[in-house]
Amino acid sequence: MEFEKDKCQWCGNDAPAYNSIYVPGEDKNLQICLHCYNKEISKAAGIEYEDIQLHPVVLKDLDGMDHEFRFSLRLMGGQQVLCAHEVKADLSSGYEFKMIGETKEGIFPLFSRLYEQMLKSLSRKHISRNTEIDQWQITGDDTVRGQISSVGYDDAQGPNPLLIIDGKKITWDEFAQMVLTYEGFNFKLQIFDQNDEKD
Ligand SMILES: [Zn+2]
Repeated sequence: MEFEKDKCQWCGNDAPAYNSIYVPGEDKNLQICLHCYNKEISKAAGIEYEDIQLHPVVLKDLDGMDHEFRFSLRLMGGQQVLCAHEVKADLSSGYEFKMIGETKEGIFPLFSRLYEQMLKSLSRKHISRNTEIDQWQITGDDTVRGQISSVGYDDAQGPNPLLIIDGKKITWDEFAQMVLTYEGFNFKLQIFDQNDEKD
């Protein structure tokens, strides 16, 4: 049977990238939704697993912009990973948060820790757009938290690096421009994972 893209190849339900995983099939990898995957893992590991669907949430950032998040849960035996993925109308990358916890503690304590992290992160702003020179600049102190990602592929150099800062895509060149503001100064650049707990 031919399946459409982004459909689970076991149950046929929608399986967007954030909520699916690739598992080896007979001749090619199969895209499987995390609900099916978790059921298999729980059976294999003899773990009790209740398939709880978390509703999407919308959070506002400091500029009053809405950010919509969808959740996915992945069982890894004794541990489970709960992720919040920002979904954007143009399908571009946005915020992504992860929290790992014991499977036996259930999903809700994990959700509350993740949610706290999301609120904390959206209440911080690391960069702003300087409209006079039409480029991003680092606001506040010398700390930038973000996620290191990549976009596309360059035959000579491999994947093109991309940073997700404040839920925005920042290319390596744009980041270099921001750092150039500090030319001539001794500058300690700290890149933290946006999930970090340090202030
Ligand atoms: Zn499925």
